[in-house]
Amino acid sequence: MKKILEYENVTKVFSMGGMFSHQRIVANDDVSFHVNEAEVFVLAGESGCGKTTAAKIVLGFDDATSGLVVHNGKRGRQRGEKRLWFAERVQAIFQDPFATFNPLRLVDRYFFETVRNYRLAKNHVEAIRLIDEKLRLVGLSYEEVASKYPSEFSGGQLQRISIARALLTDPVLIIADEPVSMVDASLRMAIVNLFKRLRDELGVSVVYITHDLATAYYVGDRIAVMFRGTVVETGPVDEVLTNPMHPYTKLLRESIPEADPEKRWTTTVRLSDAEHEEFAMSGCKFAGRCPSVMDRCRTERPADIVRGEVAVKCHLYDAVPGEQEPAR
Ligand code: SF4
Repeated sequence: MKKILEYENVTKVFSMGGMFSHQRIVANDDVSFHVNEAEVFVLAGESGCGKTTAAKIVLGFDDATSGLVVHNGKRGRQRGEKRLWFAERVQAIFQDPFATFNPLRLVDRYFFETVRNYRLAKNHVEAIRLIDEKLRLVGLSYEEVASKYPSEFSGGQLQRISIARALLTDPVLIIADEPVSMVDASLRMAIVNLFKRLRDELGVSVVYITHDLATAYYVGDRIAVMFRGTVVETGPVDEVLTNPMHPYTKLLRESIPEADPEKRWTTTVRLSDAEHEEFAMSGCKFAGRCPSVMDRCRTERPADIVRGEVAVKCHLYDAVPGEQEPAR
């Protein structure tokens, strides 16, 4: 299977509290994952887990402290041909569709601007035909959008409009950061289903970033669960979410007794007061809250243990001879 994105051993360190502070947050701590062609890959976890940092690095909005991001098999810095390919073929969808559009600017201007910037049409008629074609993919049309301001649309419509605009350049990869978290429940499914259709009908890959495990289960093919800057478990979505191995994934999973995307997962797992300390822990970062914690968890960083298609970072699965693995 062709890999469209490889995120290899990426570490991102932020210095907190100004010039003279030595406090560091390792927002991505040796994070690795990849995204295959025509799949929805979920990056899941609660706020502060590092998923948005990963998205910014993938999109080139931020630089990694170390590690490598490979797009479409092309390594090295984004220059020349690679930069052009990236600008056209990798698109982003953000959480707040109202922040995507200037309230004083007609929405169709954004479409014409993209058509012009990438020379996607020879004339105005051709441009309208292309814009209409992309809007119809999201259940709208050019007539419904022409000469209107952002305030004339609902959040769900505006999110679909931003997806249609992203489709103008025929992207191969869409990075969608919490794309349905500010959309009404009734429209949430329309957008989630749209990602499925883009995958199935157009072969587009989607990185679906979310704290909402119900929609993740519904739309995703594979998932990486993140905690405090680390991927703690990764594998096929149905396997990871119906039969979680890592104690943190189990905790998250208990918040969605039924994998029903209509029942949005809103439970916030309570953060300890010592959140920064969790980031800085030398052993397992979940040790302070883990019901299965062992002495060595506090000092030894767990490595990936592979079981079939699932990889999990937890000492319960690299037990010393004589110890038993927990039942899944
Ligand atoms: Fe819990 Fe230890 Fe596994 Fe971390 S390594 S999740 S503390 S059992």
